Amino acid sequence: MKKIDIVVPCYNEEACIRPLYEAVDKVFREITDYSYRILYVNDGSRDKTLEKLREIHGEHPETADYISFSRNFGKEGAIYAGLSKSDGDLVVLMDADLQHPPELIPEMIKGIGEGYDCVGARRVDRNGEPPVRSAFSRLFYKIINKMTGMHLVQGGSDYRMMTRQMVDAMLQLQERERFTKGIMSWVGFETKWIEYQNVERIAGESKWSFFGLAKYAINGFIAFATAPLRAVIWLGSLITLGAFIYAIVTFISALKNGGERIGYTTIIILILFMGGVLITLIGVVGEYIARLYNEMKMRPIFIEKESSLKK
Ligand code: UDP
Ligand code: MG
Repeated sequence: MKKIDIVVPCYNEEACIRPLYEAVDKVFREITDYSYRILYVNDGSRDKTLEKLREIHGEHPETADYISFSRNFGKEGAIYAGLSKSDGDLVVLMDADLQHPPELIPEMIKGIGEGYDCVGARRVDRNGEPPVRSAFSRLFYKIINKMTGMHLVQGGSDYRMMTRQMVDAMLQLQERERFTKGIMSWVGFETKWIEYQNVERIAGESKWSFFGLAKYAINGFIAFATAPLRAVIWLGSLITLGAFIYAIVTFISALKNGGERIGYTTIIILILFMGGVLITLIGVVGEYIARLYNEMKMRPIFIEKESSLKK
């Protein structure tokens, strides 16, 4: 029988571990041609998540495994760990809070049966979410697709079922700063989108603050776009050209009016303007250099402290 691994990143999800297990188990009672295993990744939780994981693995050693990190490495690191430890023929990525309904799994299996390499769930409404957040999210997708040539789908979550082949491809991308949605788009393969209604998380609270999301968005850009660097070059050239034209204009008017003084205000404005622009540009370039530095160190993406997996 073929196996489906369900990778679940967990950060302070003590109240969700068991309900998720039960919901998944219920779905698989109706599925006869696949066995399943949930692979929880405890991303350095500070609550009782790890205790809950040991407990559930003790009760269901065949269908519940876990890896536990030495600290919080972030969701992207947890996803990487889960994918790299998975060995199922199909792998599902799912949030711990039941916002990714396990009931979609049979439909995902159907999609794979139709020959797709990946079946993704797309949220069709964003009920229960602050409107500012939805607006920013829409803007993010618009801009990032334009700038990077990726095809991120509006509302496309990282709730996916993927073939082993696609997972192995994703693992070949060895960057430290991982932007999973971008990686999924970059590796290609055929994705089928199925739709679902937004649901509230069953317990606990969202780990994302507004600034956390803004940082996530910026990371996404820098991981996949060199467009900001190119924009810097254009901006620099434009300012140089403007300064050159301004110099000619000043020179001509000085000749005409017999060297009338223009005043130091202009000079101060120009100095401030140039200063501001330069600092911004150095910031953008610096951001890429910092990235290079980080990637170059080749640090591990996560550090495991404990695991139920047999080595
Ligand atoms: N998560 C994680 N590490 C983190 C933050 C979040 O593993 O540092 C997990 C979290 O436990 C959940 C998933 O990522 O399973 C999505 O997080 P959350 O529900 O807070 O995000 P939202 O649904 O609000 O976008
Ligand atoms: Mg959630």
